[in-house]
Amino acid sequence: MIAGTISKITGPVAVAAGMTGAKMYDIVRVGHEGLMGEIIRLEGGSATLQVYEDTSGLKVGDPVESTEGPLLVELGPGLLSSIYDGVQRPLPIVAEQGGDFIERGTVASALDREREWEFTPTVEVGQYVTGGDIVGTVPEGKTIVHKVMVSPALKGTVASVVPAGSYNVDTVLVTLDDGTEIKMSQWWPVRQGRPYVRKLDPTHPFTTGMRILDTFFPIALGGNAIIPGGFGTGKTVTQQSLAKWADVDIIIYVGCGERGNEMTEVLVEFPELEDPRSGAPLMDRTVLVANTSNMPVAAREASIYVGATLAEFYRDMGYSVAMMADSTSRWGEALREVSGRLEEMPGEEGYPAYLATRLAAFYERSGRVRPLGSDDRVGSVTMVGAVSPAGGDMSEPMTQNSLRVSGAFWALDTSLAHRRHFPAISWTKSYTLFLGQVRGWFEENVAGDWYEMRGKAMGILQKETELQEIVQLVGPDALPESEKIILEIARMLREDFLQQFAFDDIDAYCPPEKQYLMLKAILAFHDAATSALNRGVSLRQVLELPHKERISTMKTTPHEEAIDTIPVLAKEIAEDIAGIEVY
Ligand code: ADP
Ligand code: MG
Repeated sequence: MIAGTISKITGPVAVAAGMTGAKMYDIVRVGHEGLMGEIIRLEGGSATLQVYEDTSGLKVGDPVESTEGPLLVELGPGLLSSIYDGVQRPLPIVAEQGGDFIERGTVASALDREREWEFTPTVEVGQYVTGGDIVGTVPEGKTIVHKVMVSPALKGTVASVVPAGSYNVDTVLVTLDDGTEIKMSQWWPVRQGRPYVRKLDPTHPFTTGMRILDTFFPIALGGNAIIPGGFGTGKTVTQQSLAKWADVDIIIYVGCGERGNEMTEVLVEFPELEDPRSGAPLMDRTVLVANTSNMPVAAREASIYVGATLAEFYRDMGYSVAMMADSTSRWGEALREVSGRLEEMPGEEGYPAYLATRLAAFYERSGRVRPLGSDDRVGSVTMVGAVSPAGGDMSEPMTQNSLRVSGAFWALDTSLAHRRHFPAISWTKSYTLFLGQVRGWFEENVAGDWYEMRGKAMGILQKETELQEIVQLVGPDALPESEKIILEIARMLREDFLQQFAFDDIDAYCPPEKQYLMLKAILAFHDAATSALNRGVSLRQVLELPHKERISTMKTTPHEEAIDTIPVLAKEIAEDIAGIEVY
């Protein structure tokens, strides 16, 4: 047994002497209460620990004991619909806000050990299996079939297998010829990505039902994006819309609360959300990992790795998984605080110099992959991280470093939020690197000219920005009608296309096909108006037609009806504007 004593305590960091033989990242039990901690620095027999729990009351001389293993999460059926803290201890939803969620030193099982699951074996005695192979299935919730997989490092011939029936997570379901036992439960070190056969091209879009994301800045399944934005610009609303509507099987939602009560809101609200696909609770295909700001920082540091590991586990079963982290800035601050206590050489704004590599390693765990196992499953982890720069200043290190390693930047704009343009995602500052990869999918599944239409609309919005500068100098009347119409169309694009109210019964989700048709109708207006102006028609005549109003009702028209009526509207726009007579 490796056991020492505390020689120093500063906030969430403690130093223990007499720890000879301990390894980096091993989990330790600290003090008489057995608080959970992790070794983050070793110098001879002296181990520096980050403690995942409140260290008040710890004293120099208190005992420290190593568990001689890294931080592991338990993987198995029952994860879905669970709510965990940053080190995978189940969180009872507390009634009063800001209370301590879990008693210190608690060792709690992540999975329910008593609960029985209906297991159906899919292997036979004599069959050779290797890591990732599926030995049986268990229905986990109404919509998700849990695949019981051989742990990545194992292989062998099946010596025995239980018959179909009800078993708990500790039952030995399969034994291999060397005596290895396979159960529903398996363990994995959180700081290590789960292995896969290979990464696949991310050619499938991660569709979200949000027009600005799907049409303007789409990402791929297996891709990643960051949502930076100041306080109140819509990070949480956007993440929750994605959780609800993104076309994926599983949601892993990691909440690093800005304020204690904000996380409590998530804990209360999430379990009440309905899955729009199945009508069942959204929690049936969701795992929540929650840290409030009143929880110790070190647990926050661990929480995103716990989330990533859970995501990879379902990816390995062949599911598409979306992992949301709200907000990664709170994680960065935890890193900064611990680094400060370690008296490491600080980098920019006090963040450790390794911030960039840590962020890169985290986002690297997203991807669309061919998981281990003998069938040809495909699974993906798509990551969306919120970033909360203080005062909305995007030049700060968390935003800048996240930007460098993520494939898309969905920038929330404070001035849009102030004008109540929601989602307040800027079309001038945002970008995506996935456009080339997902373009083919949209052209095949939505419309052949999807990319062209998108480009045209973006062009008009860009032109608007230029024109607005002129308008500010000389006023709108100085513009020729051919440019005034650009401003009018850009207004339609902003108000009737990009604005999308997250809480509207119909418009909360807009299918990609409807997005395209809406864009097409607005662009039909643009084309018809432009040629009418060229004929000598006045802008006033064009804008007098009732079509402008009809365009503004497209988004709240029920989708099925809209798919029929919008093309008719587009045709009428073209015909009626073409029919205007020149006075
Ligand atoms: P943040 O997490 O960035 O601090 P929130 O996501 O809590 O901000 O959003 C703040 C408020 O902005 C919300 O309470 C809501 O009123 C409004 N809001 C943000 N996004 C939308 C949206 N897409 N539709 C409607 N309202 C929104
Ligand atoms: Mg928020």
